[in-house]
Amino acid sequence: VATVYLGLGANLGDRSANLEAALERLAALARAELRLSSVYETPALLPEGAPESWNRPYWNLVAALEFEGSPAELLHATQRIEADLGRIRGERWAPRPIDLDLLHWEGVTLATPTLTLPHPGIRGRAFVLDPLAELAPGLRLPGGSGMPDGQMADEGASVLELARRHPKHQPRLMGILNVTPDSFSDGGKHAGLDAALAAVDAWSGPVAPILDVGGESTRPGAGAVSPDEEWARIRPLLEALRARFAGRRLRPRISVDTRRAEVAARALALGADWINDVSGGADPALLELVRAARCTYVVMHSLTVPADPRATLGRDHPPAAQLRRWFEAKLAELDRAGIARDRVVLDPGIGFGKTPFQSLEVLRDWERFLAPSLGVPVLAGHSRKSFLKDFSSAPAPSRDPETLGVSLALAAKGADLLRVHDPVLHHRALLAWSHVR
Ligand code: ADP
Ligand code: MG
Repeated sequence: VATVYLGLGANLGDRSANLEAALERLAALARAELRLSSVYETPALLPEGAPESWNRPYWNLVAALEFEGSPAELLHATQRIEADLGRIRGERWAPRPIDLDLLHWEGVTLATPTLTLPHPGIRGRAFVLDPLAELAPGLRLPGGSGMPDGQMADEGASVLELARRHPKHQPRLMGILNVTPDSFSDGGKHAGLDAALAAVDAWSGPVAPILDVGGESTRPGAGAVSPDEEWARIRPLLEALRARFAGRRLRPRISVDTRRAEVAARALALGADWINDVSGGADPALLELVRAARCTYVVMHSLTVPADPRATLGRDHPPAAQLRRWFEAKLAELDRAGIARDRVVLDPGIGFGKTPFQSLEVLRDWERFLAPSLGVPVLAGHSRKSFLKDFSSAPAPSRDPETLGVSLALAAKGADLLRVHDPVLHHRALLAWSHVR
């Protein structure tokens, strides 16, 4: 049995339904559960002089499939799926309801008239690199071909590094779903279950592949909430999300923003995929749960929770350099706690333990977290935060223009994940941005 990475794309018809149908068929070929990346919406790759009508954005994702059989057999099976889903073999790069490409086959390189492995286009295509980097960040491709214009071939780079460097790289969005009556930025806007679920519908598909559910406000001055109260706030939403996405392959990952082991344990039992820990791993009991559940773990740098504006990093070294050292030590600590590196996401904690100016410096210096690569994604949580007050008088709920400006700058630097209050705004902006990059 070999692990095969397959690229899926659709830009005709109901893109969601076409991808679901193709995944159903692929699952039937697999010896184990498929592993899926997020869905990305991306500009169509077009040949010179293509008709204007071909310029329809794709939905793309990558699936990891455990396959017992030959590459030729799998190619045959995928072409059969393409045909059954209405693919008409026509001009190259014409719009299609489904495209299935064999990207990479463990241990196999091949160049025949009908099949090249690894797929020669991977390095040049952000719509392949971004989703592939989620499933196989450390994978190294044999060198050479397929580089985007003006980029140097880099034989040694991992897929994660190649994805970050691609001009059309798009960060994944984590949509914030606060079910707190006192959050700083949305004032409890999503506190009602119906409002939260309406947001989830608007954020479906490629918009917000991760939903971050939070029941404790950690803004400066927030009141303490007991674990039972925190759980009572988030439980109805977790149950509703579970019901809403039952049986769906294309579904968002559910993240729970909590620093409490009691809450995390109950959330994991209800199907949470990620734990987002603003305490930075302060509670060994939480780490043990994360280890046993094999969930994704976001570890955020903070000095105090709730944020205390008086407790900040020292001023003798650039804040990003201090955080880089903290990341390195934290990864070693998590490793000792038995938490696999491929499940870790790092978050420098904008607004936590940093002065407003230090938060800005961290964002300006973002490259420092990405290269040399630590091999793990780094998340930016700057949305609507108070450091923006240095240059904007807008109140927190109205700070999306400033947030988006920062987000696009971070995307250009290669940021992996953005945690934001308005994923629809971000998704639309990033899609337009990537058409011009
Ligand atoms: P594209 O995916 O580049 O838009 P098509 O899907 O229309 O192009 O055509 C795919 C053709 O490329 C098929 O005839 C197939 O035999 C060939 N091919 C070569 N290598 C691969 C691969 N790794 N995965 C899928 N198809 C491949
Ligand atoms: Mg193809």
